[in-house]
Amino acid sequence: MGGGAMDCYVVTREVCKLCLGVGTAFFAIQLGSDPIIVGGTEEQKTKWLGAVAEGNSLVAYAVTEPEAGSNLASFKTKAEPITDDGGAVTGYRINGSKQFISTGGYADFVTVLAQTPEGPSFFVVEKGTPGFEQHKGEEKHGIRASNTSPLTFTDVVVPVENLIGGAPGKGLKQANQVFGYTRLMVAAMALGAGEAALGIAIPYAKERIQFGGPLSEKKGYTNKLIVPHWVNLKAATAYIESVARRLDSEDGDLQVEAPSPNCSPPNLPIGRPTMPSRPWADMATSVSSVSKKSSVM
Ligand SMILES: Cc1cc2nc3c(=O)[nH]c(=O)nc-3n(C[C@H](O)[C@H](O)[C@H](O)COP(=O)(O)OP(=O)(O)OC[C@H]3O[C@@H](n4cnc5c(N)ncnc54)[C@H](O)[C@@H]3O)c2cc1C
Repeated sequence: MGGGAMDCYVVTREVCKLCLGVGTAFFAIQLGSDPIIVGGTEEQKTKWLGAVAEGNSLVAYAVTEPEAGSNLASFKTKAEPITDDGGAVTGYRINGSKQFISTGGYADFVTVLAQTPEGPSFFVVEKGTPGFEQHKGEEKHGIRASNTSPLTFTDVVVPVENLIGGAPGKGLKQANQVFGYTRLMVAAMALGAGEAALGIAIPYAKERIQFGGPLSEKKGYTNKLIVPHWVNLKAATAYIESVARRLDSEDGDLQVEAPSPNCSPPNLPIGRPTMPSRPWADMATSVSSVSKKSSVM
């Protein structure tokens, strides 16, 4: 709370060097909070972000649906306005289901995207609200320390105060703003995991003797298995950090897929790396200095 994209990137990368599951669970807190951060009213920020910051509440981000994954615009969850006798909207009735929600099985509240007559809108739904069901987590192949659950909403009634931003129809804009951060964080997760893998492979190659010497002295091993990955991870680090700096400086709209001319993504095909003069020594020092420099924990 209060940290920028660069702070979140550094923490996510470091945690994911240790465990992708714990990193995902940590990332889910940022993700669930993001619609409130980018679109919430001051009252909503104080109430919901305050609860998260105090460590009293787990939050989850509920957007994906069984039939709306990459194509988010096809989502079906509905929020029907409930009006008083004078026609003023006092609340919403939510119906639908969400899929693959990180921390969904345990969250104290979720930020859920639902369709209102004015368009997609985010709502806060609290655990225990009648009709809101948090189902058993998926049996995943990996990142098992992070819960991933389906959610169902059957005539879930929330007060109008739970409409994020206080005005309906702003949900897709808010979701797009959130994506700018989520893509950065997923890249940080992959970077941390990649660095951790090399952190294991490099010392192992120094001690594993085959054909009369350590693997670290076999060019076929270093030049195919270690150096290209190290080069790509360094290029990815530079690119990810440039994106984090741009997000923090609010440098234009970063929600589009195409790279800006000032910030092209690295294109370094594995197998054709630029070789440092002493690859092995440079590699080992740089990997350890990267992890020391970026440590904030
Ligand atoms: C561990 C985990 C945690 C998650 N946590 C959350 C969460 O907290 N909250 C949340 O809302 N969602 C969450 N998700 C859901 C995630 O956002 C979706 O899985 C993602 O949006 C992809 O949707 P899908 O799985 O339905 O894949 P699909 O959309 O069915 O895509 C399948 C494959 O096809 C590719 N593809 C799709 N469209 C095209 C196209 N037009 N051209 C070329 N290729 C295409 C995709 O890249 C993918 O490789 C989580 C998912 C996982 C696995």
